[in-house]
Amino acid sequence: MRWIMEFLQSVFEAIFGCRHSNLSRPFTIEGHTYKVCMDCSTQVFYSRETMMPLSRRELRQLRTAEASADIAMMPATAEARQAVRRKTVAA
Ligand SMILES: [Zn+2]
Repeated sequence: MRWIMEFLQSVFEAIFGCRHSNLSRPFTIEGHTYKVCMDCSTQVFYSRETMMPLSRRELRQLRTAEASADIAMMPATAEARQAVRRKTVAA
């Protein structure tokens, strides 16, 4: 019977997220600020500006901004690549 309760709790947490209250202090590693749940080790991401937990929407926007910042756009044509190279050399 206990395994049924644990299974249902893990399904509930997967759908709705962690509901535990035993969290670590907020800390920042590699630009990400978060607390860690001491019961299930879920990371709760925080805003450094407001020191409030990020909503799912804010976290999605943050990850999208980070992903798009890492992409280096390469021009599609050889002429455009040469133009970029000329601008880089001139600068
Ligand atoms: Zn938890």
